[in-house]
Amino acid sequence: MLITQLKNREAIDALISGTCFIVNCHGCGEVSFPAAEAQALQAELASQGKVTGILTTDYICSPENMKVNLESRRSEIDEADMVLVFSCGVGVQTVAGYLEDKKVCAGCDTYRLPGFQGVTPLEYDCEQCGECFLNLTGGICPITACSKSLVNGQCGGAKNGKCEVDPEMDCGWERIYRRLEQLGRLDLLKRPVQLHNYATDDEVYKQNN
Ligand code: SF4
Ligand code: SF4
Repeated sequence: MLITQLKNREAIDALISGTCFIVNCHGCGEVSFPAAEAQALQAELASQGKVTGILTTDYICSPENMKVNLESRRSEIDEADMVLVFSCGVGVQTVAGYLEDKKVCAGCDTYRLPGFQGVTPLEYDCEQCGECFLNLTGGICPITACSKSLVNGQCGGAKNGKCEVDPEMDCGWERIYRRLEQLGRLDLLKRPVQLHNYATDDEVYKQNN
């Protein structure tokens, strides 16, 4: 099982620049989604004229499903300055992977809960780290795309774009650099070093047990 929680309001306000198109994942059997809180927040953003459209569906982690859904809302997406996704980390990466030239942000953090976890093959991976970094990395997960799960940039060991730990794998931080370059957001690499707050995992674990 995993659970998604809304990022705090301050963090969400800081993400929104101009207007946004919102994607909600209804969730699936494995993911608990804060639907009521997300709906209230989105109604408020819409009343402020910040929303060009809202797409609510399930299994946004399915690239084929998402492609069809996103294309059907293309004009509202193009009109928006950014896309704000409320889902687990896999869903956000799926949308960001398809809309490569658009700013795509995560409105939720994803936490691991004890219990059964399915084995559905997915194109993207989320380790449910409890503090989602996708908003700083162009929608590429630094926890799963980097062999060392580094959150503050490259280790310096990559050769010809390949990871020093696994030469079969593209260096996750080189991928992040190229995505941010494509988005014109290399400034995000100049941020101060950030520590990952693993303590939040424990808090959510206790609340749900
Ligand atoms: S940073 Fe990666 S592991 Fe952490 S919640 Fe986001 S997608 Fe999941
Ligand atoms: S080479 Fe790249 S992917 Fe591999 S550990 Fe270093 S930063 Fe991470």
